[in-house]
Amino acid sequence: EGEIFGYLFSRGMGMHGLQSIDRDVVKMICREYDVEVIDADPTRVEDMARKKEILDEEDLDSLEDRPPVLTIMGHVDHGKTTLLDYIRTSKVVASEAGGITQGIGAYVVPVPIDGKLQTCVFLDTPGHEAFGAMRARGARVTDIAIIVVAADDGIRPQTNEAIAHAKAAGVPIVIAINKIDRDGANPDRVMEELASIGLMPESWGGDVPVVQVSALKGDNVDELLETVMLVAELQDLKANPHRSAKGTVIEAGLDKFKGPVATFIVQNGTLKKGDIIVSGAASGKVRALFDEKGNLVDQAGPSIPVQVIGLDNVPIAGDEFEVVSSLDAAREKAEACAESLQKDRIAAQAGYGKVTLASLA
Ligand code: GDP
Ligand code: MG
Repeated sequence: EGEIFGYLFSRGMGMHGLQSIDRDVVKMICREYDVEVIDADPTRVEDMARKKEILDEEDLDSLEDRPPVLTIMGHVDHGKTTLLDYIRTSKVVASEAGGITQGIGAYVVPVPIDGKLQTCVFLDTPGHEAFGAMRARGARVTDIAIIVVAADDGIRPQTNEAIAHAKAAGVPIVIAINKIDRDGANPDRVMEELASIGLMPESWGGDVPVVQVSALKGDNVDELLETVMLVAELQDLKANPHRSAKGTVIEAGLDKFKGPVATFIVQNGTLKKGDIIVSGAASGKVRALFDEKGNLVDQAGPSIPVQVIGLDNVPIAGDEFEVVSSLDAAREKAEACAESLQKDRIAAQAGYGKVTLASLA
């Protein structure tokens, strides 16, 4: 025991006997002492099951590479929008109301990696505490979470929240320590904080990639993107573009002129104009598709976000959507969903369907 303490102390992690140690630290100790770790993380298994649901058995022969979907998360004002802005080299921050991101913006960005352009899809999540639930959904469609931590502020409540969301969804984490250009920047302190919550930086022998950047000046942003693409490569991201689409609603609302408008992210298959879609209690025929710049497009393949017009109702962000064979089938599914929602509501009002500790036991 004393030896392990000594070892941890030598890695800059002095701790006392009662402190609980995180998985990554355990892994590190085991590696040092050549002991095998059996890693049973139930959230990871759940996530794998979910991925399997998106890919059917018959897709397996037609799988093709798909772009990674990346979510930038972190505490408010730590520089998420500035980072995405630099990556897109446009001016999103200036146009935002009050500088706070509203809704989930999705962007398709060609990123130069080793001289070749590779497509990445970015989701910029709102940084406000009130949007915690939305952020949780962000992690569900995400392949990698880029967690931004300001070097002059360190880990804050929303940083912890973001880390928890990513972990719960089994999404790999890449840390961007931001604002290293600032006078009060102390990236080493952030590294220590990360280690102390079980996110052991790779450069300290752990498995969490950490890149120190200045989103404002663009310093090391290329390195961050390369790191992210390496993590993406390891994930072997694939989908079958040659089938009808399914995916997740990332944003939805009612437009005065267009009616119900939804942003989908396609996770498998290709969504096309004229397809019949159903999402929860909403259904309809795709009348028009727009890319994130507002251009009309005919179709959207795996990982691609697209705005959809033609639904009869506003779907719920976070719900799944799928293409079905006929309008009748779509309406049937939507009605069944609406009915079960109604039943849930009645049950809730009658005091049934309440989750208590006893009912879980
Ligand atoms: P968000 O709430 O996480 O999206 O944060 P923003 O991107 O809106 O950034 C908050 C503030 O920090 C803005 O005034 C940015 O100009 C500033 N900022 C962001 N990144 C950097 C950086 O790398 N260096 C410096 N000095 N300021 C930054
Ligand atoms: Mg922002």
